[in-house]
Amino acid sequence: MRKPIIVGNWKMNKTNAQTKEFIDAVDSKLHEHADFGIATPYTALHTATSNAKNLLVAAQNVHFEPNGAYTGEVSVEMLQELNVQWVILGHSERRQYFNETDADINKKAKVLLEQGITPIVCVGETLEEFEANQTEDVVRRQVKESLADLDPQKAQTLVVAYEPVWAIGTGKSATQEIAQNTCAIVRDELKNLFGTEVSEAIRIQYGGSVKGNNIAEYMAGKDIDGALVGGASLQPESFLELVEALNK
Ligand code: 13P
Repeated sequence: MRKPIIVGNWKMNKTNAQTKEFIDAVDSKLHEHADFGIATPYTALHTATSNAKNLLVAAQNVHFEPNGAYTGEVSVEMLQELNVQWVILGHSERRQYFNETDADINKKAKVLLEQGITPIVCVGETLEEFEANQTEDVVRRQVKESLADLDPQKAQTLVVAYEPVWAIGTGKSATQEIAQNTCAIVRDELKNLFGTEVSEAIRIQYGGSVKGNNIAEYMAGKDIDGALVGGASLQPESFLELVEALNK
């Protein structure tokens, strides 16, 4: 049984004071039916890991080199020191605005798995690709290239997030059918890479305009094990609606 996993991706939002306020409002209200986490900006990670008892904490990126002349970057060891449990890799905003490639994501995923931090690897097609019926090709290629040559044993802990770019922050969520079908394609590609057993252990999230009132419908899909949530993860009230929707 794959445990559901709900992660709020805060993107470039929230100061340390706002992070603490959020954790104070949410942390004691979680339950055992799912793993719940927040991906804060780097600046708020320490506040998050030192205040959260139940919420897990993710970073939104990392560099693959252990140290060196990479101005503005942060290493895996630096995140480990802060007890960060997950790192989001290859979010479409990083692919789009910061030219992140599947090859970069692959290097980062390898280092994270070696160091015992779980990558949440994002894949998903643009609106143009969706309209040209290229979703399957794009998603298979992204999964294959970003997760190439990983140790299958370590890969079991991976999380993959399918986020159609056209559904992010637009209020236009994918239908449950599209989300489930594409997550099944992701799982099939994981099977090609790592075999059936490992592919069945890996958790797959859907992301794109997920809210308290639609999360249960997505999660009913047999290959959807959770959600990566942007807007609805920012306020304690809307985050707690997600928490409550899974409390059964
Ligand atoms: P929204 O939930 O705001 O559409 O964002 C999705 C997302 O990008 C999560 O990583």
